[in-house]
Amino acid sequence: MHKRPYVRCPHLSQTMFICVLFSFAAIIMKVAVIGAGASGLTAIKCCLDEGLEPTCFERSDDIGGVWRFTEHVENGRASIYESLVSNTSKEMMCYSDFPMPDTFPNFLNHTKMMDYYRMYAETFNLLKYIQFKTLVCNIRKHPSFQSTGQWEVTIDKDGKQQTSTFNFVMICTGHYSDPYYPLDSFPSIQQFQGQYFHSRDFKRSDGYKGKKVLIIGTGSSACDIAVELSRTAAQVFLSTRKGTWVTSRTSDKGYPWDACLFTRFQEWFKNKLPSSIVLWWTEKKINMWFQHANYGLQPTKSSQFRELVYNDELLSRITCGSVLVKSAVTEITATSVEFDDETTEKDIDVVIFATGYIYNFPYFDEPIIKADNSINLYRNIFPASLKKPTLGFIGLIRPLGPFMSVAEVQARWVTRVFKGLCNFPPQEAIMKDIAKKKENFIKRFGKPQQSNSLTMEYIEYLDELTSDIGAKPNILSFLLSDPALGWMLYFGPCTPAQYRLTGPGKWRHARNHIMTTWDRIVKPTRTRVVKKVEKSIAITFLLSAVCALTLLLAALMYQC
Ligand code: NAP
Repeated sequence: MHKRPYVRCPHLSQTMFICVLFSFAAIIMKVAVIGAGASGLTAIKCCLDEGLEPTCFERSDDIGGVWRFTEHVENGRASIYESLVSNTSKEMMCYSDFPMPDTFPNFLNHTKMMDYYRMYAETFNLLKYIQFKTLVCNIRKHPSFQSTGQWEVTIDKDGKQQTSTFNFVMICTGHYSDPYYPLDSFPSIQQFQGQYFHSRDFKRSDGYKGKKVLIIGTGSSACDIAVELSRTAAQVFLSTRKGTWVTSRTSDKGYPWDACLFTRFQEWFKNKLPSSIVLWWTEKKINMWFQHANYGLQPTKSSQFRELVYNDELLSRITCGSVLVKSAVTEITATSVEFDDETTEKDIDVVIFATGYIYNFPYFDEPIIKADNSINLYRNIFPASLKKPTLGFIGLIRPLGPFMSVAEVQARWVTRVFKGLCNFPPQEAIMKDIAKKKENFIKRFGKPQQSNSLTMEYIEYLDELTSDIGAKPNILSFLLSDPALGWMLYFGPCTPAQYRLTGPGKWRHARNHIMTTWDRIVKPTRTRVVKKVEKSIAITFLLSAVCALTLLLAALMYQC
C-alpha cells in the first residue's frame, strides 16, 4: 500500500519553495564591516543574528585590532606595548552572550584577550566573513544613494582594486591608530639631542637602562610606561598639565573596580544627587587610597568628571622616588627640560609623548564626520549629516567603563536600525538630541578636547540603546517575578548579560550567568582554597553575653 504523501501537490510545493527562496534572496541586505577588532567581530555576529550578510575587510592578516601585539609598529594600525593589561574586568567587558572562561584572570593581558577573540570568532563561525590583508581605500555614496542609501566600497587586495555595492556600512576601525603628536606645541623639541617619540612606538623597557626619561601626559599609556620604565631607567619624570585621578584596578575588598562601581543602585544615586555632591564623594573616595595633592597628581579642575587612570603600581613607584611627577613642560633645550613651575631637569635622554590619539577616516570621499572635537554623531553612531541611517560607527567612543560591551550593544542597535526595526527619528529631532547631549557633556566633562571628546557614561548609554531594541531589563518586573535575580540586577554589577534577559537576542544562560558573577570573579584568585575559620564557641558566647548585658542595662536605665 502506498503511503499518502505529506505534500499533496509536489509541483506546487516546489514552486512555493523557489518563490520563498527568491524573495528571501531579494531581501538579503549586504553589510560592509570595516575592521576585525573588538567592534568588527561583534558587528559581524550581530549582522548574522539579524539575518544580514556581512563582509568584513581587515587590512592586517589577523583579528584582534588594538589588542593584537606585534613586535613592530605597523603603518595605519594601532600599536600596544607588551605589558598592556586591560583596565576593565572580564565579567564587565565580555560580550553579553559569550562569557570569558572562569579561569581567566579578572584583568587580561593581550595574549588572553586574543585567546578570547579567537574563541568568539570560532564559536560563532565569524572568520569566513573576513577578508584579511584587504585595505579599504574608499567609501562613497552610490549614485542611487538618495533613494537607496547604498554605498560603494573600494578595496585593495594584493594591489588590485575592486569596488562593490553595499546596503549598509559599519565602521569598526577604532580610534587608536593615529597618534596625537603635538610637536607644534613643543617647537623647542627640534633642538633636543636625545631621542623622542610617541607612546605608540613604545614596546618594552629594553634599552632604557640608566637613562633619564621624561613622559609627557598622564593618561593610561603615560602611567603604564612610567611604571615599566621606572624599573630600568635612572629616573622617570611624568609631566602633567592638569593632573589626573589615579586609582586601583581593584576596589572594595579586592573586587574589580568596575564590578563594584557599575551597579544600577549606584547609578540611581548618581543621577538623583547633584553632580557637585557626586564629584565631592568620588574625589573623597579616590583620595582615600592616596592624597593626590601630596603626589602632585590632583587635577586642577576637580569640578568635572574625567576618565580615571587605573594603575596599581604608580603610587609605589612615586613613593620609591623612581617616578617624579612634574608640571607642564615650557621649554626643551638640547639636553634639559624646563617646567612651568620654573624647575629644570637636566641630562634628559628620552622624551616620550604619551599624548593620546586622534580619529581619522581617510577613506571617505566627503567629510562624513569632522576630525576635530565637535563630533556630530547621533547616539555616537550615525553621522548627523546623513539623512538615511545606512552607515554607522561602532566603537568610536571612550565609555567610562568597559568598551567591548558598549561596542556590542551599539552593533545590536545599529543592525536593527538597518532593518527598520527601531524607530529612527527625523533629522530635526536628531540635531536636537545631539545639541542636548553636547550641553550635558559640557556640564559633566567640560569643553570637549582631544582626550575627552568621545567620553560617555556607561550604564546610561547602554540603557538608552537597549531600550530601543527591547533588551533593557525591567527591574521592577524582575523584582516581582524573580526577586533573587531582580536584587542582583539592581544591586549587583551591571554585567553585559543583563541585556540578554529579554528581547531579541535573549540568551538562555543569562540568568544563571548573572547569578554566578561573583563566583567567577573570585575563581581565578582563589587558587588556594581557604577553609572557613571556625569562630570559637567561647568567644561567640562571650560576645553574645556582653551584648545581652548591655541591652539589659540600657533597658533598666531607660526605666529609671
Ligand atoms: P589619553 O588618555 O588621551 O591621554 C593623553 C594625555 O596626554 C593626557 O594626559 C593629556 O593631558 C596629555 N596631552 C595631550 N596633549 C598634550 C599637550 N599638548 N601637552 C601636554 N600634554 C598633553 O591617551 P592614552 O593614555 O594613550 O590613552 C588612550 C586610550 O587608551 C584611553 O581611553 C585609555 O583608557 C586607553 N588605554 C588603556 C590602557 C589599559 O587598558 N591599560 C592603557 C593605555 C591606554 P590633559 O589631560 O591635560 O589633556
